[in-house]
Amino acid sequence: MERELAQTDITGHFIAGRPDTGGSRRLERFDPATGEQMGYVTLGDESTVNTAVDSSSNAYQDWRVVEPAKRAVIIRKFCEAVSAHADELCRLITLEHGKTLLDAQGELQRGIENIEYATGIAEHLKGEYSKAVGPDIDSWSEMSPLGVVVGITPFNFPVMVPMWMFPLAVACGNTFILKPSEKVPTAGYRLAELFSEAGLPDGVFNVVQGDHDTAGWLLQHPDVKAASFVGSTPVARSIYKTSSESGKRVQALGGAKNHAVVLPDADVETATNAIMGAAYGSCGQRCMALSVVVSVGDETADKVADALSKKVSGLNIGPGMNNLDMGPLNSSPQRDRIVDLIQEGMDQGATILVDGRRHESYQQPGFYLGGTLFDNVRPGMSIYDEEIFGPVLCLVRVKTASDAMRIVNDSQYGNGTCIFTRDGYSARAYANEVESGMVGINVPLPVPVANHSFGGWKDSRFGDLAAYGPDGVRFYTRRKTITERWTSPVDDSAIDFAFPGSRSTE
Ligand code: NAD
Repeated sequence: MERELAQTDITGHFIAGRPDTGGSRRLERFDPATGEQMGYVTLGDESTVNTAVDSSSNAYQDWRVVEPAKRAVIIRKFCEAVSAHADELCRLITLEHGKTLLDAQGELQRGIENIEYATGIAEHLKGEYSKAVGPDIDSWSEMSPLGVVVGITPFNFPVMVPMWMFPLAVACGNTFILKPSEKVPTAGYRLAELFSEAGLPDGVFNVVQGDHDTAGWLLQHPDVKAASFVGSTPVARSIYKTSSESGKRVQALGGAKNHAVVLPDADVETATNAIMGAAYGSCGQRCMALSVVVSVGDETADKVADALSKKVSGLNIGPGMNNLDMGPLNSSPQRDRIVDLIQEGMDQGATILVDGRRHESYQQPGFYLGGTLFDNVRPGMSIYDEEIFGPVLCLVRVKTASDAMRIVNDSQYGNGTCIFTRDGYSARAYANEVESGMVGINVPLPVPVANHSFGGWKDSRFGDLAAYGPDGVRFYTRRKTITERWTSPVDDSAIDFAFPGSRSTE
């Protein structure tokens, strides 16, 4: 049966293979496209968290010893179920997030890639083997699961970011508790139902709804061994600090301010088309969204500003279900904050080329805001320094490519960046020197595919390992190295007080 949302709908938890409504608190949820209330989400309290962790701990004892190839069979069935329910899942994403259906389809597709990667778990866990590291001695490394792992996810990708985490974590033999963003709780719940129907044993994947308090109880629980977090930088930094202090393994992906550099030789029409989608797609609510364009030379900057002004003024905005260029923002407080930042940008001296508050959608019910474009933006202005996470693009003018590199590398964030040029040497130099975890060369959203890994640098990620792909396998496993000796039945051993070395002579 497909899931639809009504005003009275209450989204609860999914624990031990069943719906659970535990928790004394609940939060209203709103349809971003209309501004109307559309149900509630239950916020898990400490006892809900304890119930979920107990369920996950119990399930772990059996799940960790299931052969990887058998785990993969269930994950493959889940993958098929997700594809079969793609329309329903995309509608849920659009309804609760606000993004267009086409964008939701792209999100789901990138999530499915991560499930597919997890189905190769037998290959990913193959380990390393060294024969004859000493006399009659062989040695190998295994990748053992960690135990109960928690994932805390942001509102902007209700399906994809959880799918960066739980399919691989579970494939590695862990049990997983997802705490989705309280702003988009329904899709994660639905994924847990589908995984259960695909044959996943109860308790291997639980969903606990909640807010920052719920997240705190999960992170403090002594039986939780590791946490994957994706969200804003202040929360990522704090979770990384407190979780690692308490001995948990943690990866915490934070916010971003992604720069595109346009060199004088770039094709301005191609570059600005690419920039439009990456800056205003999903209403700018992507951690890889382009929010700054650095143009080299005034002639380039004038051409870029002119082309973008026309395109931003022509944006079609409306309900995500209508599949126009942009849907609404996710929430009303978020829109208020962005509107304040636009005013600050003007007060601090940036030139406003297109003002999103003048777009007709801004007057409609729902959390709409038109695309905004600023020129002559400089570091030190709040629209440059802060992550806006909305449909606001800042144009920065510099004289040389070295100036552009300096601006990008001085940024507090280092998630993604891209360069537009026709010159391979300049592109190569940029990729070599730029301080950023993901680099696009004439590619505006360089989000790595599932068999690579996703992670920024600087304040965009705390923790050594990036999300999903090979780093994900490393994150969700711990190494065990076994050294084994089988001698002949005749015991020729002798006491040896020297430290054993592989090159020791007999
Ligand atoms: P957020 O930090 O407000 O919330 C993220 C999650 O953390 C939610 O589940 C929330 O309930 C929880 N949370 C909030 N405060 C907490 C606290 N004090 N302790 C523990 N948990 C807490 O982020 P958001 O507004 O949902 O998402 C937008 C942010 O996420 C942006 O900054 C964006 O750049 C970032 N993001 C980063 C990536 C990435 O891969 N680097 C991907 C997507 C989004």
